[in-house]
Amino acid sequence: MRCPFCGNVDTQVKDSRPAEDHVAIRRRRFCPACAGRFTTYERVQLRDLVVIKKNQKREPFDRDKLERSIRIALQKRPIEPERVDQMISGIVRRLESLGDADIPSDKIGEIVMETLARIDTVAYVRFASVYKNFQAADDFEDFVSELRPPEPGPEEPA
Ligand SMILES: [Zn+2]
Repeated sequence: MRCPFCGNVDTQVKDSRPAEDHVAIRRRRFCPACAGRFTTYERVQLRDLVVIKKNQKREPFDRDKLERSIRIALQKRPIEPERVDQMISGIVRRLESLGDADIPSDKIGEIVMETLARIDTVAYVRFASVYKNFQAADDFEDFVSELRPPEPGPEEPA
């Protein structure tokens, strides 16, 4: 596993233990080149999912993107990080068991909303208001940027 700090490929596993109720293995890694420490998770991947975006473009499903958009919706909400991990794993399991490896992006949005609705109303409303107002919901990165506070606009002319 390549070191995310210095790019060295020769990193060491210091510790491996089950996480998320044995759904994942958490490995703590150390980079001898820069002394950097980082953590990786190993998970079962039942199938390679492909997201079909609104513009019909295909891209490999990216769990990290999904996780970022959900974590932003859950910002400052009283939900245990472990619970969030379990929730994301649950969403991925559902996607994997849909019967088709090609998944429309709005199907993913629906499943995320259903799941958030059961866990935290505020996070659900945050996610849903962005999702539903966003006609070309073709990318979770777009959700993420919509969920951020707006950048200050250009100065008004005097
Ligand atoms: Zn390094």
